[in-house]
Amino acid sequence: MSIYLKQIEQLVALQRVDSEIILLKEELESAPKEVEQLEQDYSQFRERKEQILEKIDYLQSQQKRLDGEISDDDLKIKKSKNKLMMASNTKEYHAMMREMDNIEKLNRMREEERMALVEELERQRAALEEVESESSSLKENLDEKQSTLEQRVEEIEARLAVLDKQRKAAGQHVPAPVLGRYEFIRSRLAAPVIVPVMEGVCSGCNIAIPPQSFIELQKGQQILNCPNCQRLIYWCEHFEESHEPVPGKPQAAPKTHKEAAEEAE
Ligand SMILES: [Zn+2]
Repeated sequence: MSIYLKQIEQLVALQRVDSEIILLKEELESAPKEVEQLEQDYSQFRERKEQILEKIDYLQSQQKRLDGEISDDDLKIKKSKNKLMMASNTKEYHAMMREMDNIEKLNRMREEERMALVEELERQRAALEEVESESSSLKENLDEKQSTLEQRVEEIEARLAVLDKQRKAAGQHVPAPVLGRYEFIRSRLAAPVIVPVMEGVCSGCNIAIPPQSFIELQKGQQILNCPNCQRLIYWCEHFEESHEPVPGKPQAAPKTHKEAAEEAE
């Protein structure tokens, strides 16, 4: 294999490593987002639960107050009934009756208020139950996602360490000026940096290479750039045996060699 072809091969290998690094880094960035969202939802549920508990607490204290007032006044009525027998005259008797009536009226109002309170308490308890069940299933989901995420992050970091070594190794075999061109393009364009030319078309930008450049490319003597997108290019037929797809870029990738071939079928 000529030096030219070896260099191309090594650049493609470097490219493969870089593409995987890009994908993994993107995953590292986006993976925690779902967990963060779940954490937010969960804390909202807890807040809601706190609010309901506060409400229940308040309603219960109101209920207690009413219960106390009702039983106090019931007692008062009982005492008054006993005293009624001892009324010395009609005027006093009527006055005592009126007072009892007033207290009874007040207690009926309290009973109504109490019933409304009990109903509201039931509603709040049902809401509490609902929030608790939803938040516990959310928590389960969150815990699961969190441990999955931790595992995945560990995997990614381990893989990135391996790739980093591979990258250094791959870079060592490429002459510095060629590597410099590769890095220059990599810093300015979306991956991939080095792409095959198929049937005269750059698979980085899908635009035909000018005939003169294509003839140069087929000679396989020096590493060329696509005149349109500036990516490093090679002739696919120089690598007839290993028609491995060039790793595509993460999004909106120009058609890779393989994809183009598949579409042509
Ligand atoms: Zn191009």
